[in-house]
Amino acid sequence: MNKDIALKNHWSNSDDTEIGLWKDGRIPYLLDEYLMNHHKGIILEAMNDFHMHTCIRFIPYESKHKYYMYMKKGKKYSTYPGINVVNNKTEVVLDLDYEHETKRNKTKIKTQTKMERLRAIRHELAHVVGLFHEHQRPDRDNFIETIQKSCSCTLLINNSDWNCNPLTKISYFSMNKNIRNPIVTIVDTNISEWFNHVVDQESITFYPDCFIQKDSQPMPIVFKYELSNYDIQKIKKLYNCK
Ligand SMILES: [Zn+2]
Repeated sequence: MNKDIALKNHWSNSDDTEIGLWKDGRIPYLLDEYLMNHHKGIILEAMNDFHMHTCIRFIPYESKHKYYMYMKKGKKYSTYPGINVVNNKTEVVLDLDYEHETKRNKTKIKTQTKMERLRAIRHELAHVVGLFHEHQRPDRDNFIETIQKSCSCTLLINNSDWNCNPLTKISYFSMNKNIRNPIVTIVDTNISEWFNHVVDQESITFYPDCFIQKDSQPMPIVFKYELSNYDIQKIKKLYNCK
């Protein structure tokens, strides 16, 4: 799930990150024909977490749908965030055969459990819905200052890892008849009006092993498998869920 938000150039060459929200919270999905049935089952289970707690609805794609999400298997976890207004297809790549390669007697040891896959898929789906990484909040430097050496965000040390650094500005918009309607622009100074909490270590979008609190206390590593309460609140606010 690390370094998983696609379109590096789009995100890194601009101070303004733009995320298109889905109309009425309905996300048409198309699963690649080569996905195995048990993988499809895990994907549907991951979607269900959103159905249970928010007004987001993943619905099977039909030709009448303009924007849709397409999920396929690949060698990484990767997502386009929100709707894709360039080619209408929000592509999600899932590394469902992912293996941690641990050198123990030179044997590869498979350690990705079903729960870990579920977390990774929910993490990607959260980006599809429109959430950015919790540790990339524009105000995150008020709360956290550096990384643990073990962190997968190692490039953060060189201040060059675009999936780990704070975002300057996030502009949410919706599409209506090919016209962009701005919804909100989140920057350092107004984020608390939208996301009314400090950095949420339980967020499904957080990298749990990376950060140290401002007071130099190591953050306890919290590894949650479901959407956090604040993730749910954020989604409900963005989509005006009743
Ligand atoms: Zn991510």
